[in-house]
Amino acid sequence: MTAILLEGAVIAQHVYAQLKERIRRLRADGVQPGLAAILVGENSASRIYLKNKAQACNDIGVHSEVLRFPADCSEDTVFTTLEELNANPRIHGILVQLPLPKHLNSDRILQAIAPAKDVDGFNWVNLGAMVAGHTLLAPCTPLGVMTMLDYAKVPIEGRSAVVIGRSAIVGKPLALMLIARGATVTVCSSKTPDLKQYTSMAEILAVAVGRPGLVDGTMIKPGAVVIDVGINRLPGGKLVGDVDFESASRVASCITPVPGGVGRMTVAMLLENTVTAAERSVAASSK
Ligand code: NAD
Repeated sequence: MTAILLEGAVIAQHVYAQLKERIRRLRADGVQPGLAAILVGENSASRIYLKNKAQACNDIGVHSEVLRFPADCSEDTVFTTLEELNANPRIHGILVQLPLPKHLNSDRILQAIAPAKDVDGFNWVNLGAMVAGHTLLAPCTPLGVMTMLDYAKVPIEGRSAVVIGRSAIVGKPLALMLIARGATVTVCSSKTPDLKQYTSMAEILAVAVGRPGLVDGTMIKPGAVVIDVGINRLPGGKLVGDVDFESASRVASCITPVPGGVGRMTVAMLLENTVTAAERSVAASSK
């Protein structure tokens, strides 16, 4: 079997086409969706991520701005900036680029973003809503995974799904989204003794760990849909996921590549959340 490639780059273009239409309608109402990002310090990966996000905003007509602060800036400075952005009617989405310098408490800072503008979906109000079965603004990477599955018309209800990784921003919310859609979900982590025992029964397997080659073809159920969320840079500079693509693509029915897979969807979902937040602000102001 040679797996079908689920290309994030292609699916993201489909998402952007739909977003452009939604933005056109918003602009007809005099509203341009606006996204503000806070960057503290000089992390080069963060700068690249933000450049990509700004480029995507520019391409589809979302206003974007980056507020930069030195690495030693105080928590109060970030809080004051967030208060201003929370109150700014031109800004519908706010994100704080992670990781933050160690002296800043990420948890506290993320909770200071107004839930209605929390387009990364990390605020506990938004995460908690998912536990209760409601989606307000969902974290972008798991939302991107679900969008890819839907685009490829992968049946979810009644399927057995295994998620490896239980972080609050990828693994756990993805498991909740799959549960909400009727999958039978198993979540594995670094504490799981025999990964293969679980992965080999998964009809949908999502891997979000950050370990190159953690899953190979021998661990995959023939015909499974394999979603590789991991992003790892090898010593030579090559970018790879958590799944050994070569062996896995001979067993799976569909597989995401790295790069060009889930990563592309994460940015697309950030913009989708921003447009959704803008639409909700228009709806709220017309009540
Ligand atoms: P994290 O470090 O917060 O969580 C990693 C999880 O993997 C933990 O739950 C841990 O228990 C589990 N784990 C570690 N070793 C394991 C093992 N040997 N077996 C099973 N589970 C193990 O990481 P994260 O923020 O959830 O990110 C995970 C990966 O996804 C990283 O490679 C990250 O770069 C990538 N990522 C990609 C995107 C994207 O847009 N594609 C977005 C976010 C994160």
